[in-house]
Amino acid sequence: MNHVVSPLLQHFIGGTWQDSVSGDTFADVNPATGAVITHVAAGDARDVARAVAAAAEAFHEGPWARRGGAYRAPFLERIAQLMRAHAEELSWLETLDTGIPIRQTRGQIARAAENFRFFAARAREMTGATYPVPGFLNYSLRQPVGVAGLITPWNTPLMLESWKLAPCLAAGDPLVLKPAEWSPLTADRLAHLIAEAELPVGVFNLVHGYGETAGASLVAHPGVRLISFTGETSTGRTIMQNGANTLKRFSMELGGKSPVLVFDDADLERALDAALFGMFTLNGERCTAGSRLLVQDTVADRLVPELVRRVGRIRVGDPFDETTDLGPLIHPEHWERVMSYVALAPQEGARVAVGGRRPPHLPAGSYLEATVLTGVTPGMRVAREEIFGPVLAVMTFTDEAEAVALANEVDYGLAAYVWTSDVTRAHRVAEALEAGMVWVNSPNVRDLRTPFGGSKMSGMGREGGEWSFDFYTEWKSVQVALNPADIPRLGL
Ligand code: NAD
Repeated sequence: MNHVVSPLLQHFIGGTWQDSVSGDTFADVNPATGAVITHVAAGDARDVARAVAAAAEAFHEGPWARRGGAYRAPFLERIAQLMRAHAEELSWLETLDTGIPIRQTRGQIARAAENFRFFAARAREMTGATYPVPGFLNYSLRQPVGVAGLITPWNTPLMLESWKLAPCLAAGDPLVLKPAEWSPLTADRLAHLIAEAELPVGVFNLVHGYGETAGASLVAHPGVRLISFTGETSTGRTIMQNGANTLKRFSMELGGKSPVLVFDDADLERALDAALFGMFTLNGERCTAGSRLLVQDTVADRLVPELVRRVGRIRVGDPFDETTDLGPLIHPEHWERVMSYVALAPQEGARVAVGGRRPPHLPAGSYLEATVLTGVTPGMRVAREEIFGPVLAVMTFTDEAEAVALANEVDYGLAAYVWTSDVTRAHRVAEALEAGMVWVNSPNVRDLRTPFGGSKMSGMGREGGEWSFDFYTEWKSVQVALNPADIPRLGL
């Protein structure tokens, strides 16, 4: 079923829908066809200033920050309910906007709703801490920090937005969301659902626009205390520089080039299933994609030809087709960037073993075949840089030490996947890998309570469960003397 997209997406500021002060808009484009879907208000510093003022008023004057988690939880539950009730529409919009196959966006939307439900429960359970000692009562309170700026990317947009919005709201911080300019549809729809949930005015604000204008203004605004950012490492670096003057608190979820280590004692079939799923779902635009497959040389002759055969059978096509595995990339500019790496591979000495072309049956749209590069060596750019598309680099290793060294070679350290049936090696390798998250004999599944985030150039800080609350709340420590404590007397 087709749903309606409004011809102009506006900002949501202080409880009202608003055009940009400048009146400017930008076009939102369907990645499968190149057709314009709708136009979107292009915010700048003036729109951001209005939104921050609304959020600041909600923080200082309204009930949101002052009252506890038990007050806020029902609002989050209501948002989760509304998302579930509109799940089909939300996945339709997400597929239309991002080109992610509809079968996959359904899972993403369910997970996004679950984030609100999860953090509603956590809000109710939020506690402080006490440190009693004789003669003193010391305790610590978790308190909201202030106005938060949430800046999100275009890959799985609604899921990643929910990941920030839910804990931020649960913790009591009013916020301004700046979604990615290439994927504004579900943020707009979510804002309508949040409006329906009747949060106090100014608690949730949405400003659309480009990163360099709307995003940068949010980062520079002195009234914003925290910035939670997900996106490219280079953007994260710029944001931290621009936020330094106002000494903001940052959470940075950045890029990755995550390794999949397959040892010769692994269940090769399951390892292959997981490697294909982790790399070629979400159109290869997944931050935790296992984009470097490291195979022990003793099984490479068995594994790699089978990998190439199966990648050649991945169905590329219309993301609304229920049988599609891989849809179009988000935008023609991104298609060009991914293709530049495919072109670079043979120049660096690697081989395009399968894929690497626009599928002949799809002349329009940002489509690219699922692609495998073999003969990759660690110094190559295709082995080190994040391509963020359906392009898998394959390398081989001879022993465990080399596997770990290869895995840790790159600047990134987001996720890693280990396949082995040797239980001691599994733990040893997990310990040695420079990554924020390691999965052993497992695809990428994560309990919402566990810390999510990357090491090295993949990020700073952790989100998820308590870690989200650590970011979105301030600890305040209070010391109370129960007896007259000794006070050295000066100036008598
Ligand atoms: P991006 O960095 O280009 O943009 C992300 C957001 O930042 C967008 O909303 C953009 O408008 C905004 N932005 C851009 N310049 C800005 C500036 N100067 N000031 C403030 N905001 C600015 O990233 P993208 O291309 O949208 O997303 C893909 C990247 O995100 C990949 O590198 C991917 O690995 C990463 N990612 C990381 C995670 C994670 O959890 N670690 C999750 C998803 C995506």
